Amino acid sequence: MTIIPYGRQDINQADIDAVVEVLRSDFLTQGPVIPAFEKAVASYCDALYAVAVSNATSALHIACLALNVGKGDVVWTTPITFPASSNCALHCGATVDFVDIDPRTYNMSVNCLAEKLAQAEKVGNLPKVVIPVHLCGQPCDMEGIHALSRHYGFKIIEDASHAIGGRYKGEPMGNCCYSDITVFSFHPVKIITSGEGGMALTNNVQLAKCMQLLRSHGITSDAADMHPQAPDELWNYQQIGLGFNYRMTDIHAALGLSQIQRLNEFVTKRHAIAKQYDQKLSSLPVVIPWQHLDSYSSFHLYVIRLKLGEISKTHRQVFEALRAKGILVNLHYIPIYRQPYYEKMGFRKNYCPEAEQYYSEAISIPMYPGLTGVEQNQVVAAIQEATNV
Ligand SMILES: *Cc1c(COP(=O)(O)O)cnc(C)c1O
Repeated sequence: MTIIPYGRQDINQADIDAVVEVLRSDFLTQGPVIPAFEKAVASYCDALYAVAVSNATSALHIACLALNVGKGDVVWTTPITFPASSNCALHCGATVDFVDIDPRTYNMSVNCLAEKLAQAEKVGNLPKVVIPVHLCGQPCDMEGIHALSRHYGFKIIEDASHAIGGRYKGEPMGNCCYSDITVFSFHPVKIITSGEGGMALTNNVQLAKCMQLLRSHGITSDAADMHPQAPDELWNYQQIGLGFNYRMTDIHAALGLSQIQRLNEFVTKRHAIAKQYDQKLSSLPVVIPWQHLDSYSSFHLYVIRLKLGEISKTHRQVFEALRAKGILVNLHYIPIYRQPYYEKMGFRKNYCPEAEQYYSEAISIPMYPGLTGVEQNQVVAAIQEATNV
């Protein structure tokens, strides 16, 4: 039985050569490839600054810290995301809350956000930071969220872990036009990979500097940032903040830098696959991904929703039938507040009704550049069989 995963990396000889070159060089980490990768991503995305880190989880953490998220603060995100999108706030000692999703894009609903903000203002509990997530690679309504941030005074971190290579109103994701910081992930299932890796982009030099410090222990060796009591010895460095070792290695950066050369090619391929799925699935009892006119998705994921009223099987039965055929479908995501760790904070089932509805019907089917036409037909045939009434 052939196994078809929901996502996987695409590695070519140039990627391998780039990594080997670093292995033969003087620096495995803290070398020249990291700034080269940062420059390539910043330039691709039209952002001024990019800070490479060990993964998107650490990028989200230092992004929150750079925006001064701490005890007593509240951070809001969408429930339909990977837990790292909200864990970052908990790591800073803040509390988190969730804004329900839009029924068509499955991204944070701007209407729900507006209502929740109006309520929160009344009780004096406005969020310090809101973290929209571009689910599947489809951009959120950033103009709407940004307008609300102006009115209510919160900061915005875009969790664009799914979205590098996508566009919003024709402009690249990551340009931070509507946010303070944008975070990417380079995990192997994402659009481009560095093995493990992440990056935080911003147009604000203070935020960039702060995140650079936080990724490496809070230590600087830049004389301009040092406290004056230090004699200017050659070996001098100073710890001026409390940071972490969240650095990316040059080995990882080399892979990322090689991969970004093919980013457009990857996204084009994903669109071609999505178009095929759209056609082949149109007659089946499933909802295919709706695309907003403002968005050019990177199509990290292709999520279908079962029309459960039209079929005799349950969500779970369809899932099991597909997995039994070697099609490793997945579910992105369980609403975060339904995770046991979050339920302990007092969140209950049905807290966000649209998110729950989505959760009861969604299936991520295979989507990655190397997926062949034959494999795609296998996936469609299996879905047809599994949803047959
Ligand atoms: C993958 C992912 C993350 C975490 O990325 P890592 O690089 O694995 O830390 C965070 N948020 C979302 C939405 C993701 O999909």
